[in-house]
Amino acid sequence: MEKTLHIVGGGMAGSEAAWQAAEAGVPVILHEMRPHVGTFAHHTGNYAEMVCSNSFRSDDDEQNAVGLLHWEMRAAGGLIMEMADRHALPAGGALAVDRDAFSASVTEKLRAHPLISFEDREISQLPTDGTWIFATGPLTSDALAQAILAETGTEALAFFDAIAPIVHFDTIDLSKAWFQSRYDKGDTEEQRKAYLNCPMDRDQYEAFIDAILAADKTEFREGETAGYFDGCLPIEVMAERGRETLRHGPMKPVGLTNPHNPEQKAYAVVQLRRDNALGTLFNIVGFQTKMKYGAQTEVFRMIPGLENASFARLGGIHRNTFLNSPTLLDDQMRLKSRPNLRFAGQITGVEGYVESAAMGLVAGRLAAAEIKGQTLPPPPRVTAMGALLAHISGDAEAKTFQPMNVNFGLFPPIEAKGGRRGRKDRYKAYTDRAKTEWQSWIAAQE
Ligand SMILES: Cc1cc2nc3c(=O)[nH]c(=O)nc-3n(C[C@H](O)[C@H](O)[C@H](O)COP(=O)(O)OP(=O)(O)OC[C@H]3O[C@@H](n4cnc5c(N)ncnc54)[C@H](O)[C@@H]3O)c2cc1C
Repeated sequence: MEKTLHIVGGGMAGSEAAWQAAEAGVPVILHEMRPHVGTFAHHTGNYAEMVCSNSFRSDDDEQNAVGLLHWEMRAAGGLIMEMADRHALPAGGALAVDRDAFSASVTEKLRAHPLISFEDREISQLPTDGTWIFATGPLTSDALAQAILAETGTEALAFFDAIAPIVHFDTIDLSKAWFQSRYDKGDTEEQRKAYLNCPMDRDQYEAFIDAILAADKTEFREGETAGYFDGCLPIEVMAERGRETLRHGPMKPVGLTNPHNPEQKAYAVVQLRRDNALGTLFNIVGFQTKMKYGAQTEVFRMIPGLENASFARLGGIHRNTFLNSPTLLDDQMRLKSRPNLRFAGQITGVEGYVESAAMGLVAGRLAAAEIKGQTLPPPPRVTAMGALLAHISGDAEAKTFQPMNVNFGLFPPIEAKGGRRGRKDRYKAYTDRAKTEWQSWIAAQE
């Protein structure tokens, strides 16, 4: 067997897979089409570019499944987590990063690894020999997507991912907006003030909803709405579902006190989160949209504090390509019909930077073991990695398969006392159990 591992795609998954395999002593060739062939969402030639939000979400490894995934990746020497930690920004209980510094340092680390070499070109066919991981993501190039379709005979679905607008900080009116994380969450003053809040009274909220509903939207193409992912609905779709939906979603006014007007409770609050280390850019949390650009600036300037906002980037909604993994992949992430080909990352039907990097980590380790003539079992089902992998490689209902974020619902259940306290205990039991099993899985490879 050829001793080199080929990886296609230097995104979250491909970068982590390359790192893991090379660290296991296996030579890697990383094939990446950027910067020669671009995508509409990537702007650089760097590896692990974050195309939208700069958040890796919750960093709570005791009560949150994403936080647990962070923990598992750190325990496995994950490159993506190491660089995310190095370039972390204050964001309450979340892990937000300085996106440019983050991807530049992932690129630097990969380029410096003696076992990784690089081919900057598009791969448009499925190779017949060699060991390969395809980690080409939601924006897999058209030619390759066609080649995959021809092989699998199963239709990869197209649906939407969403971009939230980014505002220049110095155009936000701080006599109206204020810094505070919900419930003052965070260990440091910086963390407790990680968000900028823009309050609305009832009249302002009602007028805002009217404006969203009336705004010009980019039309969906025929068939485009099939497979909509509920986790990233555009705000106008939320508003269409009910006038109160946004107030109970991204605009909920809880856990916040307006220092400019402490006596009056806001009816709704728009939150912005820091988007770069300099603190010059802030994104509007949860405000992905398919409103036309002109309409967006008009509508978003109705938000108190953003009347004079200038936007570094407006929102958008875009394509996502993913496989029907439960029917196509085995528990080693191999294509059942062509076991020399693995898939990893978002194309396998996980959703998000963290989940994609996690699936890259596992794929890299599984492929490296195979090349070294070893048999590595998939991670235990009770770990966050194992739960995600089990979901995509068979647990999920194939007919209705949709991209999935990691969550405790994917874990084998644990009995615990009922009620609120019971849920806390149960989550802690899930994370304790996962950590023990993950450490054993890692230790067995050393
Ligand atoms: C518009 C948009 C917004 C998103 N917003 C968020 C967000 O806010 N938060 C979040 O967690 N996730 C978001 N996602 C999902 C995000 O893309 C994934 O979570 C993550 O980047 C997927 O990692 P990946 O490694 O699977 O794919 P990617 O990171 O996209 O990496 C795939 C790589 O493969 C390369 N490639 C593609 N085809 C070929 C080919 N034929 N040959 C060679 N190279 C190829 C691409 O250039 C790219 O570098 C968004 C996705 C899109 C499209």
